[in-house]
Amino acid sequence: MPTQPMPTRPTRPIQIVHTRAELREHTARLLGEKAGAGSDGGPSLGLVPTMGALHEGHRALADAAVARDDVVVASVFVNPLQFGDQTDLDRYPRTLEADAALLEEAGVDLVFAPDADEMYPGGQPEVRVTAGPLAGKWEGASRPGHFDGVCTVVSKLFHLALPGGFDGRRAPYRAYFGQKDAQQVAVVRRMVRDLDFPVEVVAVPTVRAEDGLALSSRNRFLSDEEREAALVLSRALRLLSGRAAAREPLLPDDAEALVRSQPLVELDYLDVVDPETLEPLAFPCRETPFAGEALAIVAAKVGPVRLIDNMPLAAQ
Ligand code: AMP
Repeated sequence: MPTQPMPTRPTRPIQIVHTRAELREHTARLLGEKAGAGSDGGPSLGLVPTMGALHEGHRALADAAVARDDVVVASVFVNPLQFGDQTDLDRYPRTLEADAALLEEAGVDLVFAPDADEMYPGGQPEVRVTAGPLAGKWEGASRPGHFDGVCTVVSKLFHLALPGGFDGRRAPYRAYFGQKDAQQVAVVRRMVRDLDFPVEVVAVPTVRAEDGLALSSRNRFLSDEEREAALVLSRALRLLSGRAAAREPLLPDDAEALVRSQPLVELDYLDVVDPETLEPLAFPCRETPFAGEALAIVAAKVGPVRLIDNMPLAAQ
């Protein structure tokens, strides 16, 4: 007897909407269609905020959401509020058709792809979310206002994706973010806590290319030589995670020296920090056998691109 092909996950044609009103209307309809789902107060909703130019890293977020939530909405919006540099904003890749295809394949139900006028009618908002001290360091230090812009757009998306608002809803509402942007995860978690958003923030592990480079929409701007040079970042992080796992002293200066040995890489920072507060680990924790958990973080300019990466450190 001929064998049957494995059934693939049934996917429906994805819907793309561009206005806030359509987003509300379609999310309400999709949640209505799944009204019987979920033992915990109705269907759960998953939100995957992105800026588009999607790759396998974003796909991992979509997969995590589709695996867990009854209705999944992804947003594709290049948020001008979080760009300090106009050139970076102008050249940010916009690939909505391919993005929608990737999200459809993952099983996402709806894409919200507004333009800036739709998201910020009448120009940039006067009232914004201030991300606070967590946002002043590391990425925030070299990109002033970046995390205020992130928090402002993320809080708007939290509101917009949930028709009827937060009141009285008991079913889970989750938002998926990449661990690749560890400071973003820490800042958004803090915002959710401080401003009482009834949203569970889910951090999805970083997806890397086979050679270790963390996937990023900006990698496409690297020449072959620069891409090769950029590998020193994940190598430096691996050096630290290997030492942490083996309960050896971290000695982060060694990792920093490794990055500095690569002439095409201009190091901004490399440090070992507390994953929640992002405060650098105290001196003895760097120089004595490692115990507990921490995060190694790095940022560097490689050619025209600023790259960031991080790795969790855990004693085995
Ligand atoms: P972006 O479109 O760059 O704003 O990213 C949208 C979301 O995808 C953010 O939560 C990122 O942290 C996440 N993301 C980007 N690159 C990766 C990656 N390589 N692995 C996992 N998540 C990622």
